[in-house]
Parts: sequence; C-alpha cells; structure tokens
Amino acid sequence: MSPRYAMTMDTRRCVGCNGCVIACKTENAVPEGGFRDWIAEECTGTFPDLALQLRSERCNHCADTPCVSACPTGASHVGEGGAVLVTARKCTGCKACMAACPYEARYLHPDGHVDKCTFCLHRVKAGKQPACVEVCPTRSLTFGDLRDPGSAVARLVRDRRSRVLKPEAGTRPHLFFLE
Ligand code: SF4
Ligand code: SF4
Ligand code: SF4
Repeated sequence: MSPRYAMTMDTRRCVGCNGCVIACKTENAVPEGGFRDWIAEECTGTFPDLALQLRSERCNHCADTPCVSACPTGASHVGEGGAVLVTARKCTGCKACMAACPYEARYLHPDGHVDKCTFCLHRVKAGKQPACVEVCPTRSLTFGDLRDPGSAVARLVRDRRSRVLKPEAGTRPHLFFLE
C-alpha cells in the first residue's frame, strides 16, 4: 500500500522557540518575508483562567485540496504520499491557490512562483525526517505514514485526542494537533 504522509504537532510540548521555522528556512532556502511554517499563539479562557496554546503550523497536506482545484496550470498538484506540491516552472504566480487555501499556507516567492511546505519530501526520500521535525528540541512534531498502523504518527492519531484546524472548510487536513 502506498504511504499517506501526515504530521502530528503536540501542543502540550511546543515552547514556541521557532526552531522549526528557522530549520525550514535554512533547509529550503525560504526567502526573507516568506514562510513555509510559523508559530501560532491562541489564548483562550477569561482572566484569570487563561490558557495559551502554541502551535507550529504549516500546510495541512489536505485530502481535499481547493488549492489544487483552483490552479489553472497544473502547477499545484498532489504528489507522493499525498503531499501537496507546487511545480515552480509551471506556476505563473497568479495566486489563485493562495486565495483558495483556507489556512494561508502559501506565499509568493520573489522568483515569481508560489511556494509552500513540501513535507520535506527530498529528505523523506533520502530516509531522513523533515527538517522541522528533526530540529524540534521538545519533540513536538512527528511525521510518518498514517497508513502504517505501527508508525508513531498513526499511533499518536489513534491514541491521543487531537484536532485539525478549520474542519468546517472540508479540506480533510493531515496535520493533527495533539491536545
Ligand atoms: Fe492546499 Fe492550504 Fe490544504 Fe495546504 S493547507 S493542502 S495549501 S488547502
Ligand atoms: Fe497554480 Fe501558481 Fe497560480 Fe498557484 S499561483 S494557482 S500554483 S499557477
Ligand atoms: Fe518546512 Fe519541511 Fe517542515 Fe514543511 S516539513 S514546514 S517544508 S521543514
């Protein structure tokens, strides 16, 4: 069976150090002003019972992909393991995919094409973990094959309470936030 890649992000472990963001920038030569991942802060409750959740966010590598449907050139596509990718040479920079994504997970690269998280497939194919996963000092991020019941990511999704962002958007995200 072909893999279906997914990621979990443990909101109880993340300390918001930005290590994942810097690792991604370095690994993928993400230009100044652009981001493939970022830290979101969400404060809930009422004073004095407040809670702060820190989340390392990126493309959700959705199973239903409005970004791919919106792309007029075929540049945006679903690649190996369900990873959602952009072929730079096919991209005209029209930004239709950026408008279609409910998560603001894409940015316009200064070279004129749209760029986004690739699940670091170049590393995965070489038997390595995505850069953000490898560098996280609190091991908040777990990447793997959701279809392999013995994988860490499958076990975490099965055994821990989790949620996806904006489920109402109907995109079936594959980035799960453990709570
Ligand atoms: Fe597309 Fe946005 Fe989903 Fe990523 S998060 S697959 S860019 S709709
Ligand atoms: Fe497709 Fe590029 Fe336009 Fe996005 S910006 S819809 S990837 S051509
Ligand atoms: Fe960046 Fe790779 Fe992590 Fe995606 S998987 S956020 S491209 S480091």
